[in-house]
Amino acid sequence: MKTLDDFNFRNKKVLIRVDFNVPLNDSLEVTDTTRIEAAKPSILKILNDGGQVILMSHMGRPKGFDDSLSLKHILPTVEKILGVNIKFVDDCIGSKVKTAVDNLKNDEVLLLENLRFYPEEKKGDVSFAKSLAALGDFYVNDAFGTAHRAHASTAVIAQFFPENKAFGKLLEKEVLSIRKALDKGEHPITAIIGGAKVSGKIGVIENLLSKVDNLIVVGGMAYTFLKALDNNIGDSIVENDRLGLAQKIMKVAKEKNINLILPVDVLIADKFSNDAETKVVSVEQIQDHWQGLDIGPETILILDKIIQESKTIIWNGPAGVFEFEKFAKGTESIGISIGKASEKGAYSLVGGGDSVAAVKKLKLENKISYISTGGGALLEMLEGKELPGISALLEN
Ligand code: AMP
Repeated sequence: MKTLDDFNFRNKKVLIRVDFNVPLNDSLEVTDTTRIEAAKPSILKILNDGGQVILMSHMGRPKGFDDSLSLKHILPTVEKILGVNIKFVDDCIGSKVKTAVDNLKNDEVLLLENLRFYPEEKKGDVSFAKSLAALGDFYVNDAFGTAHRAHASTAVIAQFFPENKAFGKLLEKEVLSIRKALDKGEHPITAIIGGAKVSGKIGVIENLLSKVDNLIVVGGMAYTFLKALDNNIGDSIVENDRLGLAQKIMKVAKEKNINLILPVDVLIADKFSNDAETKVVSVEQIQDHWQGLDIGPETILILDKIIQESKTIIWNGPAGVFEFEKFAKGTESIGISIGKASEKGAYSLVGGGDSVAAVKKLKLENKISYISTGGGALLEMLEGKELPGISALLEN
């Protein structure tokens, strides 16, 4: 695994694939700068070496050119975060880009236009990748958020740099942190998996069954398991076509001696709304026409005890409909428990938009050992899959 510290980039034109797929508001201003900040260490390393940085990214899902998704909108934010002036070119291949690259000097940064204005990017087109590759002497991938995609700039391009390619600092940190939790974690290892549906996280659950000591299933997906155990779940979210799968997962957990933990009590609501009537009931007492939208206080205590006894903790997915304040307590309590355990020395990895949002809301960022910037990419790593963006850097 070659990293940026293995090279000196003086006088080199370095193409960095970053993940600047950031949200914009109606005034086309960046509303969350996390991904831009995450790319800063790689960019600064190359600038400090006296190299020339060419930034490539996608943003959104344009179908052809779309001015509202032009990377020119993020330019002021990127300049502010990096503390340098950045040049911008309104294309990512072609003669205009070549001229901009030729004119680039040491210590300068050039941002190319949204790669996905070309459908070839997502198709993983080899000649498009070759045109991008022609712009630089060196290729760095620092876009963990898209590392699970075999796109032109994330994977295909790497073949044109058999020697001159490396993991960016963010990508390196993501991979090492996830491996640290998943493959080298100190036992007991506890994974907390939440979110709406089992179907979205089957691969993750199956892979975790051969890694962890405790598998905690919360959120909407818990109701499929609770129903598979013959509980009445009222109007709670359920995937009836996955009841057999839930049964199989519980059987495998038992055979492997893994502690699979489901909620014992839940906060039920008479409608899917923050104004709903609510009550706490045991999972055996969910009434018809009511739906479970969060875990209950007894479950929160049980989870806290397991988390405090763990040496490694992996968390992905909310414990309830945490977008509604009334049903956010379970998710927030998990965040607090993980923060507490981490302070006592446990290694914690948190990923996924909702879990990370909860951690940020509670200002626990500094307590968590590692907060992943990846959504889909993290899930695929947790599934044990090889990510194309990572394999491409390892191949010769
Ligand atoms: P995911 O994208 O699979 O991680 O799911 C996240 C979504 O799951 C969030 O928008 C939550 O509101 C939703 N969710 C969590 N718990 C429940 C629940 N008990 N009922 C319905 N939706 C839920």
